[in-house]
Amino acid sequence: MLELTVEQISMGQTAVDKPAALQLLADLLVADGLVAEGYLAGLQARETQGSTFLGQGIAIPHGTPQTRDLVHTTGVRLLQFPEGVDWGDGQKVYLAIGIAAKSDEHLRLLQLLTRALGETDLGEALRRASSAEALLKLLQGAPQALALDAQLIGLGVPSEDFEELVWRGARLLRRAECVGNGFAAVLQQVEALPLGDGLWWLHCEQTVRQPGLAFVTPAQPLRYLGQPLNGLFCLASLGEAHQALLERLCTLLIEGRGQELFRATSSRTVLEVLGGEVPVDWPSARITLANAHGLHARPAKILAQLAKAFEGEIRLRLPETGQAAVSAKSLSKLLSLGAHRGQVLEFIAEPSIAADALPALLAAVEEGLGEEIEPLPTLALEPVVAEVIQPLVQAPVAGALIQGVAAAPGIASGPAHVQVLREFDYPLRGESPAVERERLQQALAAVRDDIDGVIKRSQAKAIREIFITHLEMLDDPELGDEVEQRLRQGESAEAAWMAVIDGAARQQEALHDALLAERAADLRDVGRRVLAQLCGEADVALPDAPYVLVMEEVGPSDVARLDPARVAGILTARGGATAHSAIVARALGIPAVVGAGASVLLIAQGTPLLLDGQRGRLHVAPEPALLQRSLAERDRREQRLQAARARRLEPAHTLDGHAIEVFANIGESAGIAAVVDHGAEGIGLLRTELIFMAHQSAPDEATQEAEYRKVLDGLDGRPLVVRTLDVGGDKPLPYWPIEQEENPFLGVRGIRLTLQRPQIMESQLRALLRAADNRPLRIMFPMVGQLEEWREARTMVERLRQEIEVSDLQVGIMIEVPSAAILAPVLAREVDFFSVGTNDLTQYTLAIDRGHPTLSAQADGLHPAVLHLIDTTVRAAHAHGKWVGVCGELAADPQAVPILLGLGVDELSVAARSIAEVKAQVRELNYEHTRQLARDALAQGSAADVRALVEIL
Ligand code: PEP
Ligand code: MG
Repeated sequence: MLELTVEQISMGQTAVDKPAALQLLADLLVADGLVAEGYLAGLQARETQGSTFLGQGIAIPHGTPQTRDLVHTTGVRLLQFPEGVDWGDGQKVYLAIGIAAKSDEHLRLLQLLTRALGETDLGEALRRASSAEALLKLLQGAPQALALDAQLIGLGVPSEDFEELVWRGARLLRRAECVGNGFAAVLQQVEALPLGDGLWWLHCEQTVRQPGLAFVTPAQPLRYLGQPLNGLFCLASLGEAHQALLERLCTLLIEGRGQELFRATSSRTVLEVLGGEVPVDWPSARITLANAHGLHARPAKILAQLAKAFEGEIRLRLPETGQAAVSAKSLSKLLSLGAHRGQVLEFIAEPSIAADALPALLAAVEEGLGEEIEPLPTLALEPVVAEVIQPLVQAPVAGALIQGVAAAPGIASGPAHVQVLREFDYPLRGESPAVERERLQQALAAVRDDIDGVIKRSQAKAIREIFITHLEMLDDPELGDEVEQRLRQGESAEAAWMAVIDGAARQQEALHDALLAERAADLRDVGRRVLAQLCGEADVALPDAPYVLVMEEVGPSDVARLDPARVAGILTARGGATAHSAIVARALGIPAVVGAGASVLLIAQGTPLLLDGQRGRLHVAPEPALLQRSLAERDRREQRLQAARARRLEPAHTLDGHAIEVFANIGESAGIAAVVDHGAEGIGLLRTELIFMAHQSAPDEATQEAEYRKVLDGLDGRPLVVRTLDVGGDKPLPYWPIEQEENPFLGVRGIRLTLQRPQIMESQLRALLRAADNRPLRIMFPMVGQLEEWREARTMVERLRQEIEVSDLQVGIMIEVPSAAILAPVLAREVDFFSVGTNDLTQYTLAIDRGHPTLSAQADGLHPAVLHLIDTTVRAAHAHGKWVGVCGELAADPQAVPILLGLGVDELSVAARSIAEVKAQVRELNYEHTRQLARDALAQGSAADVRALVEIL
């Protein structure tokens, strides 16, 4: 960050005019190596666009965006001109602060500088300063204003004693960013001063960033040191900022008005009594700032000029910072906000001028305040972080084909119904805590009823479970406590609720854990529903004709509310195939494509769309012929499915007699009979971690044995391929604390973890061997990447086998890590079989997180690089007489089935509901043709090319 130091200051300079001063400055910046020759032209160009005079004898000359390339290092140089330089319009400059900035780092400097300057006229003092130190002191030493606003008042806070009340006061100061960590602890050590009337005073200077005063009163009568404790002031003291307030407080106490403070029922009353920043109930309007370099001097100046044209008060604040509003007429105050591109500006205007002023101000900001602006992404619901580079998004043209992530199979067509999440406008301050509490309770009750209804109506267990979690979120006591705190501080029900939901969701998102990120999406979903209730917004009426719903991201509750008879398909801009919304869509049988990119949100309402949920494709305004073909394909598919279901129990042979086994992937021991009835010839992947996750604590050997036995019993002699525990990294077990990792997918997971905890692996292996009796049991290890890992695991199995007899056991590994596939010729000598986990193999081969919200569409297992690894694996296995299965999602992808068959894979393991379809597809294929197809696929350069090959088939 830019800092001001004495070394940057050159005292006693002279310049006959502004051009001479700029020349001097440019020479200095070049001499100090901050910029290249030619920067002067930038300084001059900037002045012709608009003067950089800041006020109070200060100008801040800087280059234009075009001359940024000439900046070597961001920095500032300060020139003092005691005789003054005419900066145009009769404005005299005594201090020129020359800025060389590569980006907008200098905004922060300006923010600090202008905060320090305040409204007092420093020009004369700057002119007279006799040393660099004195000048710096003037810039830095000006007293900062004392923060005292509604967020620093806590009335009736639950506290049992003095210490707790002190802690509450310190917390308010911490939240307002007046103090750093540790302030509360230091404040506890300070001796409290009784002011009379049961009011107490504490102050401390340590870790103070900005002077601020908090006032808290206890919910119940308290005493301290034998005296009543009715209210406590906690001062974060810095300089003299609090003097005026202290004097006012003393007068108040002398007048015997102390009880007005602790009897106050609203923070507004307290602020009025103390003369703090009283929240106004004036009309307000919000807009997101789009200027590339934020609200820097030039646009701020234009804004201030415009505001000055209105006769009445206009304030501006950045709602996201929680800081007090500043006068929109003051350039230095505007700069002190340090507003960046993407931040929301809230203008608040006196009622008499609001109707004229607010639209004019919004229009000016929208037009760029004198600068060319690049529009913000249309759907940024959250303020866009300035550093994030947002690609320019355009609406897809008619005939466009967009590849997204296949989330729920099926073909859908219909007019687009684009639903963009609405932004709700609500007051930040509430009427009173009691009124707001009541409103919130009513909204929560309504949402609860609504969710209860969905749970009752839902046939699918997956949907019910998600909504039961939503109910729990609504009743979460921790969230409730925080909301209550805010309500007591005078916030409106909407503001309190959303601040807490947003904070909790952000916390979960920050942990970079796929599961928690989904929880965060659920939390935001619940949050939005309650907010909509509070704002009295009913759900938007949906069109009657079956339509394709287009949204940025669909919350599970949005999907579950949909009527499958009216919603033909779902298309989202963001999200991955594993999101809850995708699960719900599958459960409801609504075809869905997710993660199709922001452009889909720009599709005009009613545009005909054709969606292929199997291939993850979207056709925008498709040609009638294509539409017809696709709908015919949909009908054919439906008929095929019916026919396939009738033959689900028969084996799958190609037309030329080649057999492939079709097994099922499962994650629980229950329902095994139904899986067999779907046509499973065995279980190709039992994800045992799901069994572990279903228990409150690690299941012991006997419990596990019972679970595995249940599966084997249900299989009635069919083989069971079990994967040992695959947890760690992104799949933690709640009762098994694992150190947080920077990059969990590349961390301690799968076999790496179980080898570190051999007793867990041993008890699982024992349970499996004991459950086997004489039935066919196949054990495989997940995430093997090194030969040693496999050998260590195998040695353990062999040792246990000495104790527990099993007659039909095979031991193998999953091929999920590229190193294992490449090493397959070596591994194949030792293993009994391989099972290819294409989900992980793809993510590790292509270096794309499988749950990535925007990239996962490219994580396609039909990428030729992945196919080469499968090919290597199959060749190596067959050379040693071993078999290969595929148990990742790719095994059920209709475009992948012929290729996997052609590569020589012996078994496909898929979700039970896909078995009939996969078998039916195999029956229509010719093995010799698929061999050729696989060879051709290996020669392609991209997954898209491979898919195109299959398309032709
Ligand atoms: C795979 O990675 O393909 C696989 C089947 O394992 P999981 O999806 O459970 O990681
Ligand atoms: Mg895996």
